[in-house]
Amino acid sequence: MSASAASTQASPGKDLPAGRLAVHNPADGTLVGELDAAGRDQVETAVRAARAARLGWAATDPSARGRAVRAAAAAVAEHARELADLNTRETGKPLNEALEGVAAGVAALEQYAELGPVHRGRSLRGPVLAADYTVTEPRGVAVLLTPWNDPVAVASGLIGAALVAGNAVIHKPSERSPHTGALLGELLAPFFPDGIFTTLPGGAETGALLSLEGGVDLLAHVGSSVTGARIARAGALTGAHVIRENGGNDPLLIDAGVDPDWAAEQAALGAFSNNGQMCTAAERIYVHRAVAGPFCEALIREARRRNRNAVRAPLVDERLRAEVHAQVTGAVRGGAELAEGGTVPPGPGAFYPATVLLNCSHPMAVFTEETFGPVAPVQVVDSFEEGLALAAADRFGLAATVLTPRIDSAHRAVAALPVGTVKINAVFGGAPGGSAQPRGDSGSGFGYGPELLDEFSLVKVVHVGLPQAGRLE
Ligand code: NAD
Repeated sequence: MSASAASTQASPGKDLPAGRLAVHNPADGTLVGELDAAGRDQVETAVRAARAARLGWAATDPSARGRAVRAAAAAVAEHARELADLNTRETGKPLNEALEGVAAGVAALEQYAELGPVHRGRSLRGPVLAADYTVTEPRGVAVLLTPWNDPVAVASGLIGAALVAGNAVIHKPSERSPHTGALLGELLAPFFPDGIFTTLPGGAETGALLSLEGGVDLLAHVGSSVTGARIARAGALTGAHVIRENGGNDPLLIDAGVDPDWAAEQAALGAFSNNGQMCTAAERIYVHRAVAGPFCEALIREARRRNRNAVRAPLVDERLRAEVHAQVTGAVRGGAELAEGGTVPPGPGAFYPATVLLNCSHPMAVFTEETFGPVAPVQVVDSFEEGLALAAADRFGLAATVLTPRIDSAHRAVAALPVGTVKINAVFGGAPGGSAQPRGDSGSGFGYGPELLDEFSLVKVVHVGLPQAGRLE
């Protein structure tokens, strides 16, 4: 997402009073619902309640906390269809993908229910007649600010890890999926003591109030890089620990010698899945001249096939569509060739076709900014080294994919790419628990995996010496 786009505040809709959110179905413009954004009073009340409740929850046996999170996961699973329906109506995500997102959220809650009780400290090598070890403690009050593009999965991971680690949690879902977030909150809250889990609806204003509120010990933000930078500044002012999982501008580097049809399948999967509304979407494609011709033909064929498909999903709203289209038209003005898509379809709904741009180059926004839409911009390079240098020269640092038959190219890419995750020969996938620290404008800290429990915990070192009376001669 572009800097200007990401800084735009939630549009509350025509004629709505300030502080009121309205969400329209991006497929047909019908109203999904309206709700009030939490203001200063609700923010202060929620933080006060969380502070009051946090010590009791921190003192609760970790296995009991794990049981509560597991029971909450079961409640989410029981209401999967309702959550997925709302998700589809609010964001346009196809129902089967929304159901997958809920299932991923349930799995994340269950995983943290399991991992929380075995999260442990270390014993240290002190004197024999002493005990030196570390214990982990919850940080206290955690504020979670989450996005709309996979609202249940992303929020559930953070919520599960924060709660099982013993924190009191205030979750603010995205203003683009507030009803999905509210239902998730209703399902989870009954399993925790009062004040331990609160959901506050609202947009950027509510998020800003929360991020600057005293008494908050941790801010976890999953969202755009511009917002992430604001939250980092807020954390620096209040002293809250900040975790940021932000935007990406992931390169896809295609070496000589790969099967061009397979490479095009991977590129299409990376660029067009969830309509390109993924942090780890393939955003910049560098293809070796040796395979560029057949690769581009196959990619265009695949984009056309997707565009002919009768069942299509819209982007989250027309504001995002306008931002995506502006990047595409900007690239064409800058000399890119529009090989497929790239036009705003007539009629209702925030639809945008799978788009392939050839002859792209670096000053273009499609290459320098995150493009949160189904766009595959391609540049042909003369060598793997040239592609690698271009792939590495970026201010984002989320992930990168390299398709290559050469193990030496793969190793060189791993060493050279300044990103959290490098994927060799698969644009998506990876072992469970894989969790990396994003770099640069893509954020900081672990937002996933077992390491997320470390982020939500403080380490205390303990040294136990011998009492005077018990000293051995
Ligand atoms: P966003 O940053 O606009 O919103 C995310 C959350 O932050 C929302 O709850 C929002 O209300 C809140 N927020 C907005 N302004 C705020 C402020 N000034 N202070 C405090 N909170 C504020 O992002 P988005 O548009 O909802 O999500 C899309 C972005 O999220 C993309 O850039 C995508 O790459 C990124 N994302 C990253 C990951 C990851 O793991 N790295 C995962 C999913 C999405």
